[in-house]
Order: sequence, then C-alpha cells, then structure tokens
Amino acid sequence: MPRDNYGAILHHLGEETLPLNAVSPPIFQTSNFCFPSFEELRAAVNDELGHCLYTRGNNPTVNLAEVKLAALEKGEKAKLLGSGAAAITNSVMAFVKAGDHIVCVRDAYTWMGKLASSYLPRFGVECSFVEGTDIAEIEAAIRVNTRLIYLESPTSMTFKLQDLSAVASLARSRGIRTITDNTWATPYFCNPLELGVDVVVHSGSKYLGGCSDIIAGVVVGNKEDVERIIQQESLQMGSVADPFMAWLMLRGLRTFHLRMPAHFRSAMDVSRFLESHGKVAQVLYPFLDSHPQAELAKRQFRGGSGLLSIRLDTADIRRVARFVDSLTLFKRAVSWGGYESLVFPSAASYASANEVPKDRAGLVRLHIGLEESEALIADLDQALSKM
Ligand SMILES: *Cc1c(COP(=O)(O)O)cnc(C)c1O
Repeated sequence: MPRDNYGAILHHLGEETLPLNAVSPPIFQTSNFCFPSFEELRAAVNDELGHCLYTRGNNPTVNLAEVKLAALEKGEKAKLLGSGAAAITNSVMAFVKAGDHIVCVRDAYTWMGKLASSYLPRFGVECSFVEGTDIAEIEAAIRVNTRLIYLESPTSMTFKLQDLSAVASLARSRGIRTITDNTWATPYFCNPLELGVDVVVHSGSKYLGGCSDIIAGVVVGNKEDVERIIQQESLQMGSVADPFMAWLMLRGLRTFHLRMPAHFRSAMDVSRFLESHGKVAQVLYPFLDSHPQAELAKRQFRGGSGLLSIRLDTADIRRVARFVDSLTLFKRAVSWGGYESLVFPSAASYASANEVPKDRAGLVRLHIGLEESEALIADLDQALSKM
C-alpha cells in the first residue's frame, strides 16, 4: 500500500503558479538570468544557491524536479545532477579529505568501486571494503580516521543487503556519516533517511526517469549536507542537470507511483517461475523466501523493484550466450529501470571468456519491465530450453 499521496507530490507540488497558467511546466531552457538593477544582481551573485543566477547553480525546471524528489525521499533538500555517477562522486568527495578513511560495500556500483579503489587514493583517502551483510564486520573495519560508510542495499548484481538502520546507528554513535545508494528500492519502497542514513544518492537514469531517455543523478539529505555537496563539489565539478533533462524527469515521474508496483508484481511472478526451473540454479531477489536475507528485506523495503539476478545451472559461457541470444522480449543492454525488459550477463563485463571468474560465469541480471509477465515468462522458458 502506498504511504504517500503520490499524486499531490508528482502532479501538483511546486506547480501552484506556472507561467500563463500552463498545465505542463514550461522548460526554462536558459543558461543565465538577468536582473533589473545593480543591487539585485549583486544580491544574486553573492547568494547563488538562493537565486536563479546561472543554470550551473539553479534553474526553475531543475528546481521543480528537486522539490518533488526531496518530498518523495522525505529529505529537506534534493539536488538533481548530470548522472548517478556524479551524485555518488560529489557526495563522497564532499565529506572526505587527505588522511581520511572510508568503508564501502564490496559489490557497490562499478563507478563507486573505482572511486574508492583508485580515484580517492590519489588524494590520500583510503578505503576498506566489506561484504556488508554482517554489522560486526562493518564495525571491525572502522578506524579512528573513518569519516564515511558507503552503502548500497541491495548490492549491484549480487543482491546482498545491509541493515541500514543498524549501520546508521553504529555510524552515528562514532560520528561517522553514512551515504546509501537507493536506486534499486527507489523512494517508493524505501526511505533510508527515515532509517537514519545521512545522504541518499540515486541514479535518476533508472526508475525515477523510468523511460530510458535520460542520464540523471539525485542527492537527498538535510539542507546543510546537500548545500555542502553543491557548494563544494557540484558547482566546482560542473556536474549539473540541464533543463530539458529535468523536464523529461518531471514527465517520467508522473507515472512513477504506477510503475513501481507493476515492476514488483511482475518481478515476483518471473522470479517464482525461474526458481522452479531446472536450468536455473539460484534466483537472487530479496523478496523470495529463499533469499538469505528475506527477513531483512521485508523489514527494510515495502516491496521490490524489477531488477534481479539468476545463476544458470552452467559455467559454460557458450551456453550462457545461447540463452541470452535466444531471448526476444529482453533486450541485451546495460542499465535498467525503464519500461523495457533487459538482460545483462555478468560475463559480458570481461573481454574474453578465460577472464571470467567462476562465480560470475552463469550470473545473469534481468530487468523485468512493464510487459505482461506471462509473455516474459514464456520468453524466458523458450530461451532456457535452447540453452
Ligand atoms: C546506474 C547506476 C548508477 C550510476 O548512475 P548513472 O546515472 O548511470 O551515472 C549508480 N548506482 C546504481 C545502483 C546504478 O544502477
């Protein structure tokens, strides 16, 4: 059951007075804004976050999306950025300096992994990686100079959960900030700020946009943290959202609350079918009773999105490829969170078959889109039979 009046947020909030009483918010496709006087210009230049001065800082179309995103995620303030990678990078960089240490989940999104393992060390920030499923392991990784714990529940491809409330309260007791990537659950199914996490990051390219037509990132938190991320990192790195992207985000958001329960229903149908299939060794979906953290999933999330992984009952890449190539409704592609079903075999991340680690050979990620679940099941069934 939805906890929010989604219509009020997605269709009305921030749209009370639109120019010329337009129904659909106009796009402010402008790089800069002008002022009637020296004094007003000076006021804007000296308080960029409080004014529309230049679109790298504020823009009304971008700001409208931000008001809705903050309300969805139950945060004081949201910032829409040029990509999820920018949201991650800007948020992490805002809270560390040379000599600091961070703790990060091992199977985090690829570009967070690279940030922690090779980018931050160039600037004297060290990282410890943890599995994340056991709070004692996270506690043991904390050092005197730990400033940040970076979470992603569940992790990309492998669907390992962290207990967000438990990690957040541990971190608070040690004066450490927490950031979590909530792209998978979306604010429809989880609000990490309510669980005590300090900053939430999203790839808006996935369910928030929902139409596979934008690259976007979102940061949500309290006003002070988000303004620090903007002032210190986003304005500096120029990782901004453009007005047209923000407008497409607003357009996609109008159906967000209708899309998410549909993805959940179909993902449950498909994962139950896959679990019963002889050629599938394991289905990794947090809402299946067979998931090792199913109980935590039910406590942490109000439901699940459309992304899951399977382990095929083979380590032979040619057989995996035959399955993937036989699918007709699942497009072979990276990314997820749009209306369409997608397949991504983990082995495709490696340039040649002999580089693929054993436990990744049969691992295949599926995005369950908004097609009828019976049709998706029939497609998976015929492709498995050709394997
Ligand atoms: C896609 C993704 C990102 C990165 O977002 P971009 O918009 O592609 O930069 C971050 N986290 C997760 C979990 C993702 O799936």
